[in-house]
Amino acid sequence: MAFIDEIKRRRTFGIISHPDAGKTTLTEKLLLFGGAISEAGAVKNNKVKKGATSDFMEIERQRGISVATSVLAFIYKDRKINILDTPGHKDFAEDTFRTLTAVDSVIVVIDVAKGVEPQTEKLVEVCRMRKIPIIVFINKLDREGKDAFDLLDEVEQKLGLTTTPLSFPIGMGYDFKGIYNIWEKKINLFDGDKKQKISKGVEFTDINVPELDQLIGEKAANTLREDIEMVEGVYPPFDQQDYLNGDLQPVFFGSALNNFGVKELLDCFIEIAPTPQPKEAEERIIDSKENKLTGFVFKIHANMDPKHRDRLAFIKIVSGTFKRNVPYLHVRNGKKMKFSSPNAFFAEKKEIVDESFPGDIVGLHDTGNFKIGDTLTEGEIINFKGIPSFSPEHFRYVNNADPLKSKQLYKGLDQLMDEGVAQLFTLELNGRKVIGTVGALQYEVIQYRLEHEYGAKCTYENLNMHKVCWVQPTNNKEEFAEFKRVKQRYLAKDKQGQLVFLADSAFTIQMTQDKYPSVKLHFTSEFK
Ligand code: GDP
Repeated sequence: MAFIDEIKRRRTFGIISHPDAGKTTLTEKLLLFGGAISEAGAVKNNKVKKGATSDFMEIERQRGISVATSVLAFIYKDRKINILDTPGHKDFAEDTFRTLTAVDSVIVVIDVAKGVEPQTEKLVEVCRMRKIPIIVFINKLDREGKDAFDLLDEVEQKLGLTTTPLSFPIGMGYDFKGIYNIWEKKINLFDGDKKQKISKGVEFTDINVPELDQLIGEKAANTLREDIEMVEGVYPPFDQQDYLNGDLQPVFFGSALNNFGVKELLDCFIEIAPTPQPKEAEERIIDSKENKLTGFVFKIHANMDPKHRDRLAFIKIVSGTFKRNVPYLHVRNGKKMKFSSPNAFFAEKKEIVDESFPGDIVGLHDTGNFKIGDTLTEGEIINFKGIPSFSPEHFRYVNNADPLKSKQLYKGLDQLMDEGVAQLFTLELNGRKVIGTVGALQYEVIQYRLEHEYGAKCTYENLNMHKVCWVQPTNNKEEFAEFKRVKQRYLAKDKQGQLVFLADSAFTIQMTQDKYPSVKLHFTSEFK
């Protein structure tokens, strides 16, 4: 197949949701359509269960599972579909943010009864900022939930989206009869007993015909007619360009568990979802159709097997063909590297491949050369943008608890930070190290991994901080010097050597900004 056709057939996306909305179930049903798996239950849920905070084995086990489920690929109607896994648990939000830099679009899953939940809000906000095309799937229609129109309102208001339903439910919960597929003008009837069966659709280009009454009953038929009239009157018609620009979000309804409405979603998705997109680098924009290889690391996974300490670096291919045993430039350290066993992902397995194309993810065995955001090229100096650090929400001093093992401690911390487990800041005043995380769970993970993988011990000391702000230097030398002098105790460097300001409250940030207006404070590390 020609290179250009390989690009055109690829769809790389992420499914995002609040935990329990049905992400795993939907993923599994999508894989079933691709014939990539043959039974339900094959996709492991990688979510960290509630209460797992102090159960290290559980965390370990689940981290182990998530290597396999990090990328799930399958072929459907000759399209190569790559699903990138995004942990829903809030303590792993950073991981999800980074994965979102490697997707070309997302599907958001919402529970019909719970509506828009906090984690959905956060993740969609990031997608909106980056103009990532979004499709919404409203799940669990077999249960009593919110009214469809109320839910669409909620999605628009809480998520700031402009929706256009491409399917619409006929009844709900006990009365759930099926779905009218607006996109294909078909009705799919729900048969609660035949749970795993894919129901056949009945074509209804005109829902005003009397046959509809016979099919679903007069009352339901009339309600559907009114609903569709309302949909057509209130919501903008679907426009693919608007969707691709991130200005319009199609909505589907269904029940992942019952495999209902999933095929409709997938059939529409492969038609409208974007092919591998161009990506902005500091130097220039790289188009996926360029022949030379470029790619970047968006995730690093440690091997949990104590006998094999290597890690797996996940590379998203932006342009060109990734070939086995061909030397590529590791831009940050200026070295050429080649890889004898690059892994590609297929369904829930990984295998060694000779060639991968834009949109694909390859997993490279790594002994500590890579960190998140690193770029591989055929020689050109390219640094991809868009993998910023976000301000952590928890802060603790880290202390060495075993003076004989300080080398191990620093090596361990260094590598864990490269993996993106947490962020390390070094205070300007006294060189003390502060670990910042999104969730409290990470501190236990770090402590445990330091001990088991590096033989080092650490203790923590609480540090009451609200956020870190990345400081943009100013030309106003006097003001900058004054700022640095007054705030000395609260200044630190991040791992890249960028200056940050540790603020104990939102009020402090406001006051500081008012007092030193030329010193700009940012909540992410990338602000150019
Ligand atoms: P995740 O945390 O978003 O990955 O959610 P899961 O896929 O693990 O689903 C959470 C729970 O909701 C599980 O018990 C599923 O069986 C259930 N579930 C998923 N989809 C549906 C659905 O369409 N209807 C009903 N009734 N339950 C569902």
